Amino acid sequence: MPRFRETTLQSTPSVPRKERIKDPKDIMRSVDPAALYMLEKAKDQNLISSYDRFAAQQPQCAFGYEGICCRICFQGPCRIKPGDGPGSKGICGATAYTIVARNIARMMAGGASAHSDHGRHIVHALLHAAEGKLADFKVTDVEKLNRVAERIGISAEGKTENELAVEVSKAALEDFGRQTDEPCTWLRTTITDGRNKKFADCCIAPTAIDRSVVSLLHQTHIGTDADPVNIIFGGLKCGLADYVGMHISTDLSDVLFGTPKPVVTEANLGVIKEDKVNVIVHGHNPILSQTVVNVAKEMEAEAKAAGATGIQLSGICCTGNEVLMRSGVPIATNFSSQELAIMTGAVDVMVVDVQCIMPSVQAVAECFHTKIVTTMDISKIPGAHHFAFDEEHAVESAKAVIRLAIEGYKNRQGMVCDIPQIKSKVIAGFSVEAIVELLAAINPETPIKVLTDAVEAGELAGVALLCGCNNLESVHDNNHLTIARELTKNNVFVVTTGCSAQALAKAGMMAPEAIEEYAGEGLKNFLKRLADANQDKLTDGLPLVFHMGSCVDNSRAHDLSTLMAKQLNVDTPKVPFVASAPEAMSEKAVSIGAGAVAMGYPTHVGTMPPIEGSPLVFGIATQIASDVYGGYFIFETDPMVAAAKLLASLDNRTWKLGIHKKTAEKYETQLCENY
Ligand code: SF4
Ligand code: SF4
Repeated sequence: MPRFRETTLQSTPSVPRKERIKDPKDIMRSVDPAALYMLEKAKDQNLISSYDRFAAQQPQCAFGYEGICCRICFQGPCRIKPGDGPGSKGICGATAYTIVARNIARMMAGGASAHSDHGRHIVHALLHAAEGKLADFKVTDVEKLNRVAERIGISAEGKTENELAVEVSKAALEDFGRQTDEPCTWLRTTITDGRNKKFADCCIAPTAIDRSVVSLLHQTHIGTDADPVNIIFGGLKCGLADYVGMHISTDLSDVLFGTPKPVVTEANLGVIKEDKVNVIVHGHNPILSQTVVNVAKEMEAEAKAAGATGIQLSGICCTGNEVLMRSGVPIATNFSSQELAIMTGAVDVMVVDVQCIMPSVQAVAECFHTKIVTTMDISKIPGAHHFAFDEEHAVESAKAVIRLAIEGYKNRQGMVCDIPQIKSKVIAGFSVEAIVELLAAINPETPIKVLTDAVEAGELAGVALLCGCNNLESVHDNNHLTIARELTKNNVFVVTTGCSAQALAKAGMMAPEAIEEYAGEGLKNFLKRLADANQDKLTDGLPLVFHMGSCVDNSRAHDLSTLMAKQLNVDTPKVPFVASAPEAMSEKAVSIGAGAVAMGYPTHVGTMPPIEGSPLVFGIATQIASDVYGGYFIFETDPMVAAAKLLASLDNRTWKLGIHKKTAEKYETQLCENY
């Protein structure tokens, strides 16, 4: 195990590009047994899914894959060819490094837009509920509201909870559109002093989310910025704006719907029930889906009157994670296998909101009785039902969705359903507050010290966030599972979000039994101590990996690392904390990754973003970022090698921290200021 970060080991993917090209005949690209079962069925019935389309796209265009295709103006597309002739630059003279940097930065702008527009929707819902304009929503978690208000400097004294919620919502809206040069409140108040100083020194602290996105799109317009360092650092600013949008989403969703606590549920296609009315919620925004969950309980009788034994809700992607975390709704599956859920023939309605909904769900649904219901003005699919959802009529809309599903259930009678009987037990619901409460059972005064002590003592090798999507570039779920198994075997405390969490949940890694099967001795002892101290609260024990929620809830993992940094008296780049998106694919994954690097984490990406066309930009992401911010990207497509690189990063950080702490103790002084 290298003591110092071995830069060539860290930054160069171990699998060369030509070995990453896939066999177009191989569509059985999953390790999820339920997905494989459904893929066999799809083959028998000539149903086409993303797995077939992935195969049909092979081999993918090398220019696009490496990021050296520019379509920013329509003189193009310009493709960069090797050598130094006229073909080695775009028509405007843009070099490979400018084109790669602009393309990847624009992905960051796209990702930040998606997270923060979601966040804005939540802020408006809270504001309007607190102003008394929405009968179906209210402040549910007053304690969280008070904590958020205190953190951002708003006094609760003498105010009703609605008055306070109005003020907090207006402060959040300021973070979207502020025109002065003050950094976003949700950035300034949630990170370490060291990070605040670093972002100010490097001029990458966003002052407003919308402004950061607009500036980056301007910066990357034809004929504006050609400097790849400047463009990538502009992208990092947008990555931090993305962080602000995510944090606002998490905080205010908790205020509206409650802060997650441990829940027990199940995951994988086996949660769909033939004898029930099946409604799948899919997308990202919890506003409608949480209302569907609340309303479904009241509509059980209607479902039974139609001959069903009840209503079965389940989730896909991050809407699924939101309702799992707060209400224990089971997970049906994750991103890549979303069409396969419909192919069971038992889904009566799939209600979708925004992001990560494959347009093809409608085409698959047309082969069955399933109805796809779109609900958001900006997210429609030709052929699908559109129920325009507005918060003023939330319960009414949710009831309409469930009634459509009950009709669907009636229509499905006599049709064949084929549901793979595969599912795993899941213990989830680990907000930072829930984790701190568990730790407080051991150390009520300084709960986080239980975690940092375990790291400093070598019982834990550190903390890793596994997050992000599926990408059929890798075998569906395989990178998530391999990396999680390797990390936990080596005593890393793993927290997880997004489709990564769903992959781990489906594979049984959120069941207590997984601890015995996969955890190294140190992690086993740590989790046992935690479970023993919380016996009264935990009816079903603790899981091996801790589900922290949806993609926007990566903000919860950031908060955990900030708590650790404060306890260890260092800045976040010194904390033994790493992040990995083993199967990243979305623009949001790029902006999340940019934010994570700026915060100082070694950040692994297991599927190649379009960056290899410029060794200079590749070097900025893997080396220069590290020199300036302490965080850096690790691009590695082999999950075993990726796990080794993440472990080496943690090992390096823990070792350095130990050396500095010992030196400080020896000379009876503080940790070196620049450390
Ligand atoms: S911006 Fe330049 S490189 Fe890009 S398409 Fe236009 S001319 Fe080509
Ligand atoms: S993790 Fe990726 S694929 Fe999954 S819901 Fe989030 S953005 Fe979509």
